[in-house]
Amino acid sequence: MRFALAPLAAALCAAAFTLPATAQTIFPLNRAEILAGSHFDLKVEFPGLVDASAAKLSVNGKDAATVFGKRAELIAREDGKDVSSLILRGARITKPGSYTVTASDGTNTRSVTWNVYATPAKAAAKNVILFIGDGFSIAHRTAARMLSKGYEDGKLKGKLAMDEMPYMALLTTQGTDSIITDSANAAHAYTTGHKSCVNALGVYCSRAAASLDHPKVETLTEIAKRSGLSVGAVTNSEVEDATPASMVAHTRRRSDYNDIVKMFYDSKIDVIMGGGSPNFLPKSTPGSKRTDDVDYIEQFKGAGYAFATTKAEMNTAAADSKTTKLLGLYNTGNVDGALDLKFLKKGSVSKFPDQPDVVEEMKAAIKVLSRNKKGFVLMVESARIDKYSHSMDPERAIYDTIMLDDAVKAAQDWAKANGNNTMILVTADHTHPVSIIGTVNDEAPGDDMRNKVGTYEDAGFPNYPAPDADGYPNKVDVSRRVRMVFGAYPDYYDTFRPYLDGENVPGIKNAEGITVANEAYKNVPGAVLRVGNLPNKGPRGANQGIHSGDDVLLTAMGPGANKVHGQMENSDLFRVVAEALALGKPMAPAKK
Ligand SMILES: [Zn+2]
Repeated sequence: MRFALAPLAAALCAAAFTLPATAQTIFPLNRAEILAGSHFDLKVEFPGLVDASAAKLSVNGKDAATVFGKRAELIAREDGKDVSSLILRGARITKPGSYTVTASDGTNTRSVTWNVYATPAKAAAKNVILFIGDGFSIAHRTAARMLSKGYEDGKLKGKLAMDEMPYMALLTTQGTDSIITDSANAAHAYTTGHKSCVNALGVYCSRAAASLDHPKVETLTEIAKRSGLSVGAVTNSEVEDATPASMVAHTRRRSDYNDIVKMFYDSKIDVIMGGGSPNFLPKSTPGSKRTDDVDYIEQFKGAGYAFATTKAEMNTAAADSKTTKLLGLYNTGNVDGALDLKFLKKGSVSKFPDQPDVVEEMKAAIKVLSRNKKGFVLMVESARIDKYSHSMDPERAIYDTIMLDDAVKAAQDWAKANGNNTMILVTADHTHPVSIIGTVNDEAPGDDMRNKVGTYEDAGFPNYPAPDADGYPNKVDVSRRVRMVFGAYPDYYDTFRPYLDGENVPGIKNAEGITVANEAYKNVPGAVLRVGNLPNKGPRGANQGIHSGDDVLLTAMGPGANKVHGQMENSDLFRVVAEALALGKPMAPAKK
């Protein structure tokens, strides 16, 4: 083998000489918007080994150590590799302005410029309620109106609660690595004001090997709690899932559920509700998903949290005027969506018959959080709009959009009755490629389901029964129903019908790991096999629908909401919240 080494070494040498001088990467990234007084980790990644005496870091021409009051530490061989990094944990800038950070390894120099912004000294809003419809796209909103309001002579008979809100913007959702986000970096943008990459929460995506080692940026929970506000997050996903986790988490990998539970605990977030109990239970408990013996339910209780496992327990805990902290875990997995909870009783409803919906969770959360006279921040997620859009189950996604709007209505009513000093924001973290293209009309002639799809004037109007008081029709399998289609899909059988027996499972992986259509729907009368247009193998091989990169709508009302207009970056939403709550005012000087 010896003879082979020489050419290889020569090739390596040649590569070393011909490689362009790779610049160091600096986190936070260029053009970062940083809230004055918030904490962040500053990291410089050099492309090679750097001697401690050669590594230089300056801010606006001054030695960084004098600016931050501490010196960046040199990691000589990061993760045992031939690369050096500088890391300065917990950096903070209180004075607003433009900051140019320059890092040099003695040969190469690279600069980034950050904008550090202050906020008004006095808060415009006492409280902020941020609604995130996960995957909530324009078609979901339109369909929710169709089913819950109906039309007369082409005009809607009523508006959604979110339609009544005066301010609106288009948010772009792209992250640092891709034009397509997932719920992690999308929610992270809202809760930190920084952009990041797919799967990341509360961190920039550096080259660190361990998921918890990446450079952190502070979350809304950390910042709001430092200002004395109470903070809550309620969802119908598992609470460890990306959107609720974005309120507290710092990890490169959203699947670090056990770490995320610890982060919830350490953050002292006041209210947390949803599903996902197994990651709270010690590994000795049957059904636990923990790898350690910590009983986080006992930990939370010990820290003064009321604990609820059912809607009844939640309401009892919230009604007790002494309750200021509440942990609610209502399902081992996700809490069931509105169509199953209220009408079909499928999913896990028979196993967990007394789960609250998102509206009920939110009302209980507000009761608890509003006991803090300084105010609160509450994130409310209707999570399964996304999950049901992945599973290409339009009716379930639409019912959970109606549920989202019911929660918005309840928040508006509460804000009106309680001083009109609550800013309400309604948005999505990303979209799905969904669209309403007409109706399916069972009464159309023939057996061919494809030709029962009515387009243009043949679509007419769907014939759902009049909605109940909460805006839900009590039947989805009507003879003329909305046809919502998905633009990106795996191989699947299109049945043209609602999934009354349980959530759709469009594709499944075969023994070779390739996604194929789920044969369970093959014999539904009229079902059509669709050849997918998504990758069907590899790590991103899809057995369901995917996210899209379209803009999302941000709708807003209340004090501070007038900052919502035009086209904004998703990370700008954080600034709207920070300004409304005056979270960026410089901290008072230490008393002598
Ligand atoms: Zn998703």
